[in-house]
Amino acid sequence: MYRTHLKEILPLSDVHHLHVFAGAVVSVEVIWHSFWHFARWASGGDARFLVDTQTGVTGVIALLVTPLICYPMMFHRARRAISFEYRKAMHYLAVVWGVCVMLHAPATNVLWVMGSAVGLYVADWAVGYFLKVRYCPTMTMIRLGPKAVEIVFENPRGFLPNLSGGGYVYLCLPWIGSFQWHAFSVYEHPTLKNHSSVCVLKAGDWTTALHAALTKPSNKPGWVYGPFPSPFLTASNHENIIAVASGIGITPTLGTVVSLGGTRRVNVVWTCRDAELIEYALRTVAFSKEAFTVIYYTGEHELLLDEGPFRENHNLLVIAGRPNLEKIILEIMRSVETKKPLSVHTLEAANQMYVKTFTRDGGERLEVLLKRIRLSYSASELFELARAASLEAEIEARDAEAEARSSSLDHPASLQAAAPRPRLRTTSATISGLIQQCIVGITLRGLDKFIRDAQRGAGLGRPGHGGVDVRSYGTTLKMVFEQHDANSSGELDESQFARVLSTLSSSGEADVEASRERGGGGHRAPVYRRALVRAAASLESILTAKYEGPNFENFQARSFSSRRSPHDPVRAILYCGGAATVVRMLRAMRKTTGVDVQIESFEW
Ligand SMILES: Cc1cc2nc3c(=O)[nH]c(=O)nc-3n(C[C@H](O)[C@H](O)[C@H](O)COP(=O)(O)OP(=O)(O)OC[C@H]3O[C@@H](n4cnc5c(N)ncnc54)[C@H](O)[C@@H]3O)c2cc1C
Repeated sequence: MYRTHLKEILPLSDVHHLHVFAGAVVSVEVIWHSFWHFARWASGGDARFLVDTQTGVTGVIALLVTPLICYPMMFHRARRAISFEYRKAMHYLAVVWGVCVMLHAPATNVLWVMGSAVGLYVADWAVGYFLKVRYCPTMTMIRLGPKAVEIVFENPRGFLPNLSGGGYVYLCLPWIGSFQWHAFSVYEHPTLKNHSSVCVLKAGDWTTALHAALTKPSNKPGWVYGPFPSPFLTASNHENIIAVASGIGITPTLGTVVSLGGTRRVNVVWTCRDAELIEYALRTVAFSKEAFTVIYYTGEHELLLDEGPFRENHNLLVIAGRPNLEKIILEIMRSVETKKPLSVHTLEAANQMYVKTFTRDGGERLEVLLKRIRLSYSASELFELARAASLEAEIEARDAEAEARSSSLDHPASLQAAAPRPRLRTTSATISGLIQQCIVGITLRGLDKFIRDAQRGAGLGRPGHGGVDVRSYGTTLKMVFEQHDANSSGELDESQFARVLSTLSSSGEADVEASRERGGGGHRAPVYRRALVRAAASLESILTAKYEGPNFENFQARSFSSRRSPHDPVRAILYCGGAATVVRMLRAMRKTTGVDVQIESFEW
């Protein structure tokens, strides 16, 4: 329905909120109605009607199931105490409740009134189940560190991912549980055409099982149901918005940035303690250059980022520590309206983090990369991954050797130069089989390929931009390999491989210090310097001015397709995350600043 004109009349972007509100009203109404029935029958000496009549029996059943349907979903304590599966199972008692209400008063038209509601519900369920649940034969999944998973799938036929700003799907992965459906925000994959992406954070049994099953990057089947609209869809009503997120609550914002970042100013304020989520978001989504993206990193691990996006987008800031959310939101609102930079304080904090993140040399980056991989996979999983890399690397090496030999025999050098041959895969199935049998451990080539693959997986292809400088680490790698290959077999077994990884990911501790003392590239020009200079000039106005709401005088109504004016005020704040204090603060800001505030919650 969200794709129809009905969305102008009905609040379809937040149907869950509507559902919760209606549930609360009905639960109160049922108790109120029953109380007066009881009171009337009891005072008239007709209490037996409760069990003797159709009205009494259906009423008692409806009254008894109402708290089971509503309270576990309504109250925070109950939500914490009862698992989602049980709460959901109890919620389905709503069908019993609906039938009871239909039959509650035979002398009236309630059968038809309630019957149409139940009929609509069943019809909606049937249409959804039979027409909107789609099979994806291949979902590509990979672990993002120890807590998260990225899933990418080609849009199945009839799946319309773009809800212009946000939306979520239900996923069912039959190899985890054939009847479990879980909700995840969905967004178009920014680089793969006709593909969608979701990012899953470990929260309970299902998400943990998913993470555990991915002992290596995998392609597995799944079912997708949706997409459904979320409150973030209202973003398309505004030219200037601020999307605020905490933790995994960033996923609806990613959808908004992907679908609206080119036509709206989508400013982002995100607090996150998971390094992998920040790394994932920054390599997956191109945050808008015309909007501020301020990421507060509250985690412990060092970030492994590509410097490219920061060089291209000076409004992309990562800051270590917790934000004063209200202050940064007001700062962004003011900067957007006045076209002035953010405060010196904010820019300096971003600058510090920038210098810290991007002044590591190749060896230090290698260390961080390996530390991160060791957090994502267990020792035996890593051994299997490296063994697969070794087999591939050895087969490739044999191919290259065979090809070089055959080219030099078949063709004189002058001819080869004139007509370069396409590279052929020369290894026969028998030779591949032999190599597989011969190689039981990790070879030096395999170790090298394993690290390069890890680097590519982390989106760190370019040395000097956050990537590992492969030329500089080759010698170290060989040295450490030989040091641990005790019997000089040319292969490492599982424990030797574990020791190599441990050496490579910690040996540089002293080097890190040394490199810092040497300067470690610390004299590189910080990206935000220019903005800092400009900010200093307007420091007074930004830090001391009292915020008095959006400057609507400067706002000129214009069509969304026209160019944005820097003076358009921020009209909406969207929040997704589980922090009740943030929700309260934003609701208060709605009153003080007059902006529209929309909240999305994953806690159902
Ligand atoms: C609209 C929406 C969008 C979401 N988007 C994302 C996202 O992009 N990334 C992400 O990591 N998580 C997202 N979530 C949360 C995600 O659905 C849950 O973390 C996941 O279902 C947990 O399942 P579990 O069995 O591992 O944990 P459980 O311990 O069973 O559940 C933990 C909590 O997750 C919620 N939840 C559990 N099962 C479901 C379900 N079937 N449907 C809805 N909520 C459920 C409940 O609030 C529950 O208390 C979203 C939730 C909603 C409602």
